[in-house]
Order: sequence, then structure tokens, then C-alpha cells
Amino acid sequence: MSKCAGCNKELTFVSVLSAMNPYSLKCGGCDERIKAKPAVVTILVVLIVAVSLAILALPFPGASTSKIVALLVLGAVFEFGFYLALKKGFIGSNLVP
Ligand SMILES: [Zn+2]
Repeated sequence: MSKCAGCNKELTFVSVLSAMNPYSLKCGGCDERIKAKPAVVTILVVLIVAVSLAILALPFPGASTSKIVALLVLGAVFEFGFYLALKKGFIGSNLVP
């Protein structure tokens, strides 16, 4: 499992969830910044923006509420996928195995 190089703490989902900047996540145990490969993060950000725009453009039954729910679910799925990929090392970062 991937750990912080500074304090040896495992990456937590909360750290990913609470990050304002996906390029630089704050470690939950120290002041170390966890940096994923910028190219991979950019691809993910472009992907999520594209899917979000597609959801907004689609005619949804029940209008705005179901769109907001869909966007929230999408965001949570992406965040969790990003967390798992970082943790498993599918996305390169400065975490140590
Ligand atoms: Zn740390």
C-alpha cells in the first residue's frame, strides 16, 4: 500500500476527498504534499469535465434535481477511483510503496 514519504501514513480517502487541488493532495499525517503525475491528473480532470457537461446537456427526467444527484455520484465515483489508483500505484506519485 502506498504511504507518505514523510510520515509513513497510508493515503486515506478523506485526504483525496477533501483535496481542493487534485495535483497536490495534503497528507493526513504531516505537511507533505502528495503529488500525482500531472499528465494523468489532467486527463482525469478533462474526462470528468466532459462527462459533467454531457450530463448537463442531456435531457434528464425530473430536470435539475436528478442532474445534481448524477453529478454528485459521478464526482464520488471519480474521487474513489482516483484514490484507489493512487493507492495501488496505477497513477504514479511521490508516495512510497
Ligand atoms: Zn505524511
